[in-house]
Formats: sequence, structure tokens, C-alpha cells
Amino acid sequence: MHSTTMTPIQALQKYFGYSEFRHQQEAIIQHILNGQDVLALMPTGGGKSLCYQLPAVLMDGVTIVISPLIALMKDQVDSLNVNGISAAFLNSTQSPDEQQRITDQLKKGNIKLLYLAPERLFGQGSNLISFLKSLSVCLIAIDEAHCISHWGHDFRPEYLMLADLKNEFPKTPVIALTATADKLTRKDILEKLNLNSPAEFVSSFNRANITYRIVPKKNSFNQLLAFLDERKEDSGIIYCLSRKSTEELTADLKNEGFAAEAYHAGMDNVDKARNQEAFLKDEVKIIVATIAFGMGINKSNVRYVVHVDLPKNIEGYYQETGRAGRDGLPSDALLLYSYGDANKLQRFARVEGNEEQSAIMLKKLDDMVKYCQLQTCRRQYLMHYFDESFPDNCGSCDICLSEYQKFDATLIAQKALSAVARLKERFGNTYVIDFLRGSKREKIWEEHKQLKTYGIGADISRADWLRYLRELVALGYLQVTDDAYPVLKLTDKSDAVLKGQQKVELIASQTTEERTAEVIPYEGGLLQELKITRRDIAASQNVPPYMILSDVALIEMATYLPQTLDELRLISGFGDIKLARYGREFLVPVKDYCSKNGLTSRIKQKSAKRVQKAGHERTNNRLRSSDTKIETFTLYRSGKTIQEIATERGLAATTVEGHLSYFVQTGEIDVLEFVKEEKIPAIKDAVESYGYERLSPLKEVLGDDYSYGEIRAVIGWMNRNTN
Ligand code: ADP
Ligand code: ZN
Repeated sequence: MHSTTMTPIQALQKYFGYSEFRHQQEAIIQHILNGQDVLALMPTGGGKSLCYQLPAVLMDGVTIVISPLIALMKDQVDSLNVNGISAAFLNSTQSPDEQQRITDQLKKGNIKLLYLAPERLFGQGSNLISFLKSLSVCLIAIDEAHCISHWGHDFRPEYLMLADLKNEFPKTPVIALTATADKLTRKDILEKLNLNSPAEFVSSFNRANITYRIVPKKNSFNQLLAFLDERKEDSGIIYCLSRKSTEELTADLKNEGFAAEAYHAGMDNVDKARNQEAFLKDEVKIIVATIAFGMGINKSNVRYVVHVDLPKNIEGYYQETGRAGRDGLPSDALLLYSYGDANKLQRFARVEGNEEQSAIMLKKLDDMVKYCQLQTCRRQYLMHYFDESFPDNCGSCDICLSEYQKFDATLIAQKALSAVARLKERFGNTYVIDFLRGSKREKIWEEHKQLKTYGIGADISRADWLRYLRELVALGYLQVTDDAYPVLKLTDKSDAVLKGQQKVELIASQTTEERTAEVIPYEGGLLQELKITRRDIAASQNVPPYMILSDVALIEMATYLPQTLDELRLISGFGDIKLARYGREFLVPVKDYCSKNGLTSRIKQKSAKRVQKAGHERTNNRLRSSDTKIETFTLYRSGKTIQEIATERGLAATTVEGHLSYFVQTGEIDVLEFVKEEKIPAIKDAVESYGYERLSPLKEVLGDDYSYGEIRAVIGWMNRNTN
């Protein structure tokens, strides 16, 4: 089923449905394909598995994957099979018949990846090695490679036997992977595995999608409920220190109506397996666990991790919080901190008769406490702890979010509210902003120009005013009527602000350039339907839902509303096999929803996947900007649509639109090719009010009936007229 002519990026699209490599995946894969040994360090959720799964698909022969946990093996094998890649594992839980069946398949060359535990490979009386030598083994992957080191936190003696692999398979490249390895452990891994001048790849361990928060622990159960109430639909893990408290907390949460179950090492295996399974299948939303839970959990849509007790060290904390958000979507890490907890742990940290170890443990605990008491960026502290440099404002931890971004905006709020009052609560955003900024436009009534409030907000840009007004509405200091022409009105909270009795805090504007990337809101109702479809398919295939498709894929579908299989192919995670197997089933709810709500596909607004882009093209020098525009223009003139050009050129549709709007500006393309004439005045009006530097506020004002492409085209055309 493999093809030697396929490039890695093509295989990524075809088998995994992804359009881009992450971190250093591409370089790692290239090294393996060249037959070199590799050590890869990547954070949890970074995409380590793909580093050997993709070469396995491209190479002739079988790839052997050494993995410490049976639960993890099954998860990986199921997930590969769902993607149409033949994989299997051999372990002690299987019957002799089952094992024989797999051996037969291996002999026939029908299996691309074989998962094994190390003890199975070298166990007494095992002739597995000589059997494997009779096959063609193209790659050996050693997952969780830190298990080979005494220095790691998870030493497994069986891993030491893996040193022998290089002697048994001297010509086969070996890749060792781990998410946790300080320098000492890293060196140890290389020595013990006996690797052949390996290339080392160390990715940043920053988990940008996780927001870190610490709150003082006061009434922890109520604090927890407040947090969970906002996340009723999400999956999460709550870590406690003791077995007893996991059970008590589980009972309390159940009482409050949450679908929660406990997990700790003292439970019997059947109960543990049942609770874990229910969590993986999204039947149970919350697992309340001791740290025994989590190793080998690949569930990608864990949205939050809560520590109700203080962790013993940063390593553990970081690993546990890292179980949130493997799918890359925004996720939360919350820790409830009390000094009492720190005190209690200090007593435990002292190991009788081992001064040296006590000192190390106490130092680690002290670092953990410092982290909780920080007044500076938490992420920076974590990164420094792991020897990585990091700037001092991440913008997404509690410190950065509160200290840097909120500011006292009482005066701004007063200006806005008094403008609304002076204008007798009869105008909408645009007019109020023009009035505040003292716009000279004729549209502003003469009598308004005489008011004292006219022009008191001239120092603030239109875009910022728009944001502030929205925030004031969100905070309840203003309201918007839902008429055809919505107007701003005061509320009963407004008066206190105007009289100076109420302080108002707003979020400061981003100093860094705001993304112009269009964030289109997804259809919440459709997302729910898609989750049901996914759950049903998962149940029929007997795998957890996240294995069928990630939450990212569902959100993309609920955003871009694909209507055909070809459009569906542009959704992240739809490789060829998944498209063929489940594509039609997922189109049903999307189409139903669209026809009920009068919606159509928005797939054109999605950045094109680089479907056909061959690897070598990416290293070529970029085309000069004028050349690339001309190339787009030529294709457009040959009759191709924007989407076709985007796909063919491996560019985002928005980039193509940007190119073409340049030719609207030069006059080579008529603006009417992109926009209906009757739509132009509204766009022009919005551009005149808000400027054309940033598209997203324009899109917001204009609403769903106007696309980014149309707005861009009109901007090009307006610039032509004024030049
Ligand atoms: P790790 O083993 O490093 O914790 P995984 O291999 O489980 O991480 O990958 C985490 C998630 O990211 C998986 O759902 C995987 O399918 C997805 N993923 C991996 N590589 C990519 C990529 N290039 N683009 C999009 N998603 C990816
Ligand atoms: Zn921060």
C-alpha cells in the first residue's frame, strides 16, 4: 500500500489528513529516511508518534515500536487502523491463537507497525528477536525513552535490555523519543541505547495553548464548582494528593450533578479500567485522580487539569498539566494553592537518614512554592526551570492576563456613556464613534458638532473605540437594541459610572500586531450534532471518539460548513481513508444544519491545505512579491477560481485574494468581478469610518453577508480612485 514516490508531506495529507508538519517533525523524518539514528525531545502533545509512523508508511518493511505500556499500545494501534495503516501489538494479554495470527501477518509483510513491550522482546525463552530478524525491519522506535535512565522519574529496568538492539539490527535506524529529559537524562539515553552518532532534536517545551492559573485555596470546593460550571461540556482531570480525597471529591461532584469518577492506585483493576474507558469515551467528563492517572492517556481533548492540592515538584506539575490540550486547542491549568499544603509536604519531603535526597526534594518543593507565589509571568518561570529562555510576558497566564492587559478605563467609559447620553440614545456604534472622534463628515449633524462631548475621544483609534464599546456592552454598562438599525442605550449600571462611583477596567489593546487572520465563529448547534455523529461512529467501531476525529476537526467543520467530500478534504484530520469511511456520514449533519439555517459553505475562507506541495519546493527561495502576484493573476485570467489557485499554488485563499485586490487597484481587474455593485456602498462606508489597516473590525461591522474577499476588493478599488 505504500508508494516509494510519495513525499513525506503527501503522506501526511493522505494518511493523517494534516497539511503541515509541526515542530521538527519534517527534519526528524528526513533523517530517518536517510537511515540515521535520532533522539527526539518534544513536549506532550507535540506529535512524537508521527515521527516514526510516517516513515513506517513510506519505507519498505516493518517498523518496531517499543512502548512501556500496554494501554498505550492498544490506543496507538487502534488509532493507526482507523487511519487505514495496518498495525498490531504483541503482548501477554493475547491468546496464543491471536499471537499466531499476527505472526502470520508479519510473515506475509502485511503489517507496517508492530508494537512491543521490552520484556516481550528479550523475555526468557523468547525467540522473537530471531523471528524479527527473518523479517525486514526498516525502523526501530523507542517511545518514552527516558525509561532507560535512572535519572528519569520513571525508570524501568527492562529498558536497559534495549542496548542490545543495535547489535542485533546494526543497519536499522533507531529513533528514541521522550517528552521528559533534562540534559543528564538525555546523555544517559544516548549512551545506554548505544546509538550511532544520532541527530538530536529538541523542541521547545512551551505549551502555548495552556493557560496557567493559581488561585489561593480558600473554600476549595466552591472554587472548584465555579470553575467547573463554566466547563460543563468539557473533559478534565482533577488531581488530589490522597486516595481518600479523590473518593470524597468524586462523591461531592456527583452530588452536584457532574459526571465524575475516581482513579487511584488503590482501586481494583476492573474499576480502574472501567473508569478510564468511560473517560476516554467521553461518558465521564471528569476524572478525579491521584498522579497514578495519566501515563499513557492519549486522550487529546482534555480541556483542563486542576490541582486541588500542591504538587511536590515542577516536573510533576508540568507533566500533569501537559495532559490538557494535546489537540492544540485552548486549555486551562488551575492550581489551588495554600501555604498549609506547602507545610504539610515539607514534612513528607524529609527522607529519614538520607540528607542528600531530602535536600533535593525540599529544594524542588521550594521551587514549586515559589512558582505559586510569583508576581511575574508563570510560563517564563516554567521555561527557565527547564533551561529554556522565554520573554517576560506570555499573555496567557494569570499574571500576564491580569497585570498587563487590564487597565483603569473609567475615563474612557465615562466619555463613551456621556456620548450615548448626549446623542439621546438614538445612534449606533459607527455614529457614536464618529461623534467621539470629532469626525468632520457631513453625516454628523450640525447640532451634535456643537456639543461639548463632540471630539472628546479623538485620541483613540476607531478600532479601539469599537472594542471598548463592545466591552462596555459585555460588562452591562451599555446595551444594544436588536432592531434593524441597532442603537446604543444606557443601562441601570451606567449612572454609577457617569457619577464616578464605579471604576471600570477594560482590556488594553494589544501592542503586538493583531492578527488580521479572520476568526469566524463556529456554529455551536452544529458542533453538538457533529459530536453525536462522532460518538455514534466511535461506538460502532469500538474506539474512543477522539480517535475518529479530533475536536479541532469538528470545530473546523462547524466553522467552514463543508458541503462535499472535496470540501471535507480541506478539514484537518481527514486523510484519504477517513474521508472514504466517515466523510459522507459527517456531511449529513452539516448539510441538514445549513439547509435549516439558510447557510452555505464557508470553505473558501479556510486557508488552503498545501495538498500537492512537494517537500523540496519549500526550501527554494521565495518568489519575489511582484512575481508571486503576477503568477496568481495569470492563473486567474486563465479562468481558475480563487480556491483552485490557492490549492494549486499551495497558498491560503486569503493570500490569493490579497494578490488579486492589488490588480483591482491597478485597474487590471474590474472590482465588479468580485463584488456585486449594490454591496459596494456599505463596504465603502465602513472603510471610510474605520480605515482599511485592519480587516477584522470591518468584517465585524459588515457582518456575514460580506466576505473578506469582497472587502479587500473594494479597498483595492477605493485606493485606485483616490490615487
Ligand atoms: P505526543 O506523543 O508527542 O504526546 P501525539 O503523537 O499523541 O503527541 O500527537 C498529539 C496530537 O497531535 C495527535 O492528535 C496527533 O494526531 C496530532 N498531530 C501530530 N502531528 C500533527 C501535525 N503535523 N498536524 C496536526 N496535528 C498533528
Ligand atoms: Zn505569562
